[in-house]
Amino acid sequence: LHYVSKEDPQVADAISQELARQRGSVELIASENFTSPAVMEAVGSVLTNKYAEGYPGKRYYGGCEKVDIVEDIARARACELYGCGFANVQPHSGANANFGAYTALLELGDTVLGMSLDQGGHLTHGSPVNFSGRFYNFAAYGLDPETETIDYDDVLRIAKDVRPKLIVGGASAYPRTIDFERMAAIAKEVGAYFMVDMAHIAGLVATGAHPSPVPHADIVTSTSHKTLRGPRGGFILTNDEDIAKKVDKAVFPGAQGGPLMHVIAGKAVAFGEALKPDYATYIEHVVENARRLGEGMIDGGLRLVSGGTDNHLCLVDLTPADVTGKDAEKLLESVGLTVNKNSIPNEPRSPFVTSGIRVGSAAATTRGFTADDFYQVGQLIAATVFNAENDAMLADVRSKVDAMLEAHPLYPEYTCA
Ligand code: PLP
Repeated sequence: LHYVSKEDPQVADAISQELARQRGSVELIASENFTSPAVMEAVGSVLTNKYAEGYPGKRYYGGCEKVDIVEDIARARACELYGCGFANVQPHSGANANFGAYTALLELGDTVLGMSLDQGGHLTHGSPVNFSGRFYNFAAYGLDPETETIDYDDVLRIAKDVRPKLIVGGASAYPRTIDFERMAAIAKEVGAYFMVDMAHIAGLVATGAHPSPVPHADIVTSTSHKTLRGPRGGFILTNDEDIAKKVDKAVFPGAQGGPLMHVIAGKAVAFGEALKPDYATYIEHVVENARRLGEGMIDGGLRLVSGGTDNHLCLVDLTPADVTGKDAEKLLESVGLTVNKNSIPNEPRSPFVTSGIRVGSAAATTRGFTADDFYQVGQLIAATVFNAENDAMLADVRSKVDAMLEAHPLYPEYTCA
């Protein structure tokens, strides 16, 4: 932080503190990851200075030849990674990507069917406090109460009932493989478009660790910063030329002004990284590590929603430990385990309190945590939430966490300001 330290010690200090925080706890928030120094360098580059409204070769500003190279690389790599014909890499975030996709395909007030937020869906899948729920008429599908997995028969039943123009697949807190082929067949049966928001599993889809939605969906949206391990941002994919044209218009000028060219450069670097064999090995570890994390928690006495995981995350029912998600989040943070509270199916508590936590393996796997480490982390999570009042036990957990953190240094090449 050479320049920031000199010019603005206050901001430099806060950034240093954040680096220390990231180093000083096991990052288990399922939507987070640690990007490579190469991605961060691209995002911190001179590309932040450039206005480039429009698309490569068709800009509203002069001097865009160099950023055109960057955006073309990002688009081509996204298409190669996901085996699709078209990519728009300009959405500033996952929410913006979904806004772009909805406005490309829908009119205000159209009926849409998405996964209910309290069963694992995202805010942008129809929450009444989000633009999606305010601008469109969302109906919700959810989980089978027995298996706690998506009830596809019910999706079909609701779809026949509400006749949506669009069905949205994908989730923020769903630990199981999603059957996109089946959902596409349901959409076809009721004459709806099928969109998949693959934000969480984008890294798994890239390497084949989760079946791809691309062959089945009319449109696929994603973030670039979760399992995919790129910079914070969004993108949209499709194989349909007409939809591609609508998406481009919907993103710019429909929803955004100038694209963040520095972030697009970061996306290009991240897509390039994800195309390399090392990344497939990384994702293999992410999936294996989430499974071991879950086993550690189950062996420690906790219950996993749906009984386990197929992907990078576990949804944990804390009821056996008689602690709320809110209290568990705070308690776990105090021993160096960063998680987020999360509603569980048929949640009896408010979303600010909850009865569960969501944990993921993407970030700590990047840091080098092994499958055995993850099993131990799972056991330590259980030990912590079952012993909230036992200071000696919590101190023991903290020292074990610290030993693991020390064994796997984060960004060793960086120094604090
Ligand atoms: N879609 C899904 C499934 C998500 O989980 C998220 C973020 O958690 C988003 C979209 C939104 O992404 P962003 O926070 O970049 O707007």
